[in-house]
Amino acid sequence: MVFDGEAAASLVKELRLNFNSGKTKSYEWRISQVNAFLEMVVEQEDQIVEALRSDLARPPLETVVYEIGVFKNSCEVTLKELKQWMTPEKAKTSITTFPSSAEIVPEPLGVVLVISAWNYPFLLSLDPVVGAIAAGNVVVLKPSEIAPASSALLAKLLGEYMDNSCVRVVEGAIDETTALLQQKWDKILYTGNGKVGRIVMAAAAKHLTPIILELGGKSPTVVDSNVNLEVTARRIISGKWGCNNGQACVAPDYIITTKDFAPKLVDALKTELENFFGKNPLESVDLSRIVSSNHFARLTKLLDDNKVSGKIVCGGQKDESKLRIAPTLLLDVPRDSLIMSEEIFGPLLPIITVNKLEESFDFINEGTKPLAAYLFTNDNKFKEEFVKNVSAGGLLINDTVLHLVVHTFPFGGVGESGMGAYHGKFSFDAFTHRKAVLYRGFTCDGSIRYPPYTDTKQKT
Ligand code: NAD
Repeated sequence: MVFDGEAAASLVKELRLNFNSGKTKSYEWRISQVNAFLEMVVEQEDQIVEALRSDLARPPLETVVYEIGVFKNSCEVTLKELKQWMTPEKAKTSITTFPSSAEIVPEPLGVVLVISAWNYPFLLSLDPVVGAIAAGNVVVLKPSEIAPASSALLAKLLGEYMDNSCVRVVEGAIDETTALLQQKWDKILYTGNGKVGRIVMAAAAKHLTPIILELGGKSPTVVDSNVNLEVTARRIISGKWGCNNGQACVAPDYIITTKDFAPKLVDALKTELENFFGKNPLESVDLSRIVSSNHFARLTKLLDDNKVSGKIVCGGQKDESKLRIAPTLLLDVPRDSLIMSEEIFGPLLPIITVNKLEESFDFINEGTKPLAAYLFTNDNKFKEEFVKNVSAGGLLINDTVLHLVVHTFPFGGVGESGMGAYHGKFSFDAFTHRKAVLYRGFTCDGSIRYPPYTDTKQKT
């Protein structure tokens, strides 16, 4: 069956009726759905691992840790804290309203849309959906067609485990997403690139629908010369190639270090890369492949740019038939090269060298604001300067990527890396309206606000 504008309109109509029935507002319904999610990922772990093997040749451990593990933790935090999140908050009142009492009541927004991306297809789909459900909404999920096995499995599993009167999956690509975007939603959370982010924003504007955009950018990694070199190299490798072979929104996009230190860092990265992925990384079972031939061609173009030829100091091997690209380091790439002009989102890692590390602040700030920025240093003063001077969705000192799993952190971008945030309580807040309620009685009514506005009243 074709999923066109008419089908989308009828889906939203049906879901709105179900939302209006009030069913999703109860604590019990929300908890039952979060429990269903937990049961689903525990029982279907093997199928999820297999779907990602099919879509990305993803090593199972990466799926279990970053996709299933992080999502389970989200569900557990929600189960533990939901009652408290749902409890209205007492608010102070003003002298003008005396006597009165006040509270802020969290209420669901209504019917919401989650559009997710291919690189972590389960986490990026289910984590926002669990927030929307916890907040008492009805949800439609549109997974990414670029990861077809994961998209099909999400549709099948949510069909089996969830209350389908209130939680639905629509599979498809641009046409189906366009049909969905034409409808009136109460909130849209979109994960993906900024070009489509702009399309989502324009569609949402027609209905004054609020949005969250989880986008990407060029996340810098600044490396000082006073670091523990081995640990630094391992943590950069883990965040870059150990997360989907660089196809992660928070993967280090490029390194900035000093000219003097760069050769040492390159040597340490080469040594640890070989320890992790062997002498022939194209054959390593511990590295994901590139998701599609389009993305393979895009990455090849970045490498073929004549401004970076001769700059490869490690890797560079490719196998188009298997969509594999080896971890690749490029030293001293020019700023106007293609690879420095767009988010890489793959296994290529350019290294920019500067005379003094402080120059990195201007270098970063001259670009668009990244989703993440990393710093490796032992110098506390420099850490302070970095936190003060660098604007990014999130910062992490002396490691990569792990800030994403801290459930007490808001996860989201700033500027071109996105707007709004979620994770943990922030997911609940993202799909909740905070309704201000003031309670008054009928006493103390001698108010000066009633006409006629006599001289006496005006003097008080
Ligand atoms: P993608 O190709 O899967 O697209 C994302 C979604 O947009 C899909 O569901 C797709 O169907 C839909 N879409 C594509 N074209 C569309 C169109 N013309 N109209 C309407 N919908 C359309 O994913 P992608 O964009 O390749 O993802 C990679 C980007 O996402 C990178 O920039 C990355 O940094 C970013 N990302 C961000 C996060 C985050 O949490 N901030 C997470 C993952 C990826």
